[in-house]
Amino acid sequence: MADLTRLTAAELAAAVADGTASSVEVTEAHLARVEEVDEKVHAFLHVDREGALAQARAVDERRAAGERLGPLAGVPLALKDIFTTEGVPTTVGSKILEGWVPPYDATVTRRLKEAGVVILGKTNMDEFAMGSSTENSAYGPTGNPWDLTRIPGGSGGGSSASLASFQAPLAIGTDTGGSIRQPAAVTGTVGVKPTYGGVSRYGMVAFSSSLDQGGPCARTVLDAALLHEVIAGHDPLDSTSIDAPVPDVVAAARNGSVEGMRVGVVREFRGEGYQPGVIRRFDESVELLRELGAEVVEVSCPSFDLALAAYYLIAPSECSSNLARFDAMRYGLRIGDDGTRSAEEVTSLTREAGFGAEVKRRVMLGTYALSSGYYDAYYGSAQKVRTLVSRDFERAFADVDVLVSPTTPTTAFPIGERADDPMAMYRADLCTIPVNLAGNAAMSLPCGLADEDGLPVGLQIIAPAMADDRLYRVGSAVEAAFQARWGHPIIEEVPAL
Ligand code: GLN
Repeated sequence: MADLTRLTAAELAAAVADGTASSVEVTEAHLARVEEVDEKVHAFLHVDREGALAQARAVDERRAAGERLGPLAGVPLALKDIFTTEGVPTTVGSKILEGWVPPYDATVTRRLKEAGVVILGKTNMDEFAMGSSTENSAYGPTGNPWDLTRIPGGSGGGSSASLASFQAPLAIGTDTGGSIRQPAAVTGTVGVKPTYGGVSRYGMVAFSSSLDQGGPCARTVLDAALLHEVIAGHDPLDSTSIDAPVPDVVAAARNGSVEGMRVGVVREFRGEGYQPGVIRRFDESVELLRELGAEVVEVSCPSFDLALAAYYLIAPSECSSNLARFDAMRYGLRIGDDGTRSAEEVTSLTREAGFGAEVKRRVMLGTYALSSGYYDAYYGSAQKVRTLVSRDFERAFADVDVLVSPTTPTTAFPIGERADDPMAMYRADLCTIPVNLAGNAAMSLPCGLADEDGLPVGLQIIAPAMADDRLYRVGSAVEAAFQARWGHPIIEEVPAL
């Protein structure tokens, strides 16, 4: 049988269902791959070998008992370390949660288990999901499997790197400003930010609650759709969860087409700061959409130019409130509790030692933006921009079915290059942030390699809220056309391993 780590999730699920391979075999193959390459990649913070094999055995037993298995049963997955996992450490990439073992499963974790998905372990991430490179992890950076000296994107760099290095066929990420889509773009993988409220936030450690959204990551559009279906849907434990049927993303992925669709190209997403090779691949994608039967028009969304600034007021403001719970009393780390200090002193010493520089910067920014006297000028103005961004989308979607843009202005940059320049780092999310502010859905999928560095470029497809299926319909048509042109999937072998 072919190397099991090279198969798609759909193929693996079929192999498990028809008995060509057992889930234990599939899981062991992936654990062996982790063993072989993860010392170099550092995609995982924690590998749950025993737990994964137990889950795999349970699936094999259900099959042996004649039970009909779900569409992803027995398939391994890498879970971002922001989702709580009962009995398995959850750190959010932070020292402040080092050693914390949650007593409960996030809804996403629970749904994965119920679907028979095998959770291999927890993946590396920027601390509290703040970053675009995974360099802000308290546990060291992750390498991009295309070139280990470069970033795998962030904050979900562990998840994207695990896919691109064939350590897992599926992964889960979270996207507050781009942390599913940007890592997908720079690793040549597929990532989807569902409509806000489409996937439960219960048990997902909060960064910026009005923006945070969990979603699927995979190497193919169909695999992402199968995973989307497993994790999405109403959850009474999340007050912002949408109580409506989930769009049929799997059917859309199986019936890719752009025939007769109107596609809008966002005029604002090009120009200064965009790498020529990224723009070239993007322009070719637009040409391809035309060839496939779409009608392409240019669309202007002028307020998108203000989105980044608004995001860096709203996200820090919400995080300054959300992170207040890390007070050394409730979870994880506690420093200086020697009987001589007050609770306030212990809290302060613990936060000093437990939070990294970027987290501290954001908490300070957020508390400042929310302070009386400044609230209207900063937080208030940012909320107004948020409304303008939503209106730009509304106007655009009155005329087109989907919007397209590059996912990120450049390909993967070298580790260290932007580490001391927060503004340069923040610009990695220029094209992804408006979607989070408005709450609608978007996908990144590979559209080729940039000429100047041979690194993957991502195409972003944006759909209206609750129309996540359109992403998959368009995405799978584009994916099929590109693969026919290239003659192979974008990642055939792993260049750096
Ligand atoms: N890079 C953005 C930030 O640092 C987005 C992060 C995310 O989506 N979690 O906030």
